[in-house]
Amino acid sequence: MSLTINAIPIFSDNYAWALHDTTTNKTAIIDPGEDHPIRTYLDMHGHKLDFILLTHHHADHINGADTLRQHYGARILGPRDQRLQSLVDCIVQDREPISLGESKGYALATPGHTLSHMCYYFSSPPALFCGDTLFSLGCGRLFEGTAEQLYESFRKISTLPPQTKIYCGHEYTLANADFAFHVDPTNHALKERITQVRSLRSKGQPTLPSTLEQELATNPFLRAPNAQILKHLRQEKDTF
Ligand SMILES: [Zn+2]
Repeated sequence: MSLTINAIPIFSDNYAWALHDTTTNKTAIIDPGEDHPIRTYLDMHGHKLDFILLTHHHADHINGADTLRQHYGARILGPRDQRLQSLVDCIVQDREPISLGESKGYALATPGHTLSHMCYYFSSPPALFCGDTLFSLGCGRLFEGTAEQLYESFRKISTLPPQTKIYCGHEYTLANADFAFHVDPTNHALKERITQVRSLRSKGQPTLPSTLEQELATNPFLRAPNAQILKHLRQEKDTF
C-alpha cells in the first residue's frame, strides 16, 4: 500500500496536489484551480483521474474541476456549500471516511478562511491537504469565519500525528516568514526554518510539504498560547 503525492504548480503561487495510490492505480487531484497543468501532469504520468477533492469554493481552487470531470469522468468530492452545488457529486462531512484505492483517510471540517472549508487527511503516510486554512509559517485570511472558529480548526489539526506532512494550497512561506519572525524573534527553530525557506526559494524549489511538528515549532498561529509570543504582542500593544 503506497500513496505518492506530487505538487502541480498553478497560477503564480497555487499548488494543486496529485495523489496516486500505487496499489490500485487510482488518482485524485486536490483543488484544481485550472485544468491544463493538471492534464499535462496526468498525461505525462499516464494516469487517469478518478477523484477531485475540493477544499473550498474560491475560484483559484475549483475552476479546472468541471472540465477535468468531463474529460476523465472523475467524481468531485467537497463540502456542503451552495456555491459548490453545481460541482460537487459527493458531499463530505466532518470526520467522514474517504479513500483513494487502498489509501484511507477522512475529511476534517476547518471553518475560518471560509465557513465550509474542508481539509483532507490520509493516514498512511500521514498527510493533510489543508487548502487555505493553514500555510507554512502562517494561515489563510478570515473571509467568513471568526477568529475563534479558525483557532478551533487549528486545534483540530494540532491533534494529528506530528509527522503528518502539511500540503497547503499556496506557496506563501517566505512571505509569512517576516510576520512569524516579528512576533517570535527568539525562536531558534523558526530562524532555521527561515534560512531553509530562503535557500529553497532561491533555487525555485517548493517549501512544501511542511510537517505538523515543524509548524507546531515555528508557526505563530499554531503557537498562539506560547508565552514568548504573547509577551511580545503585549509589549507591542503597550507602546500604542
Ligand atoms: Zn481561498
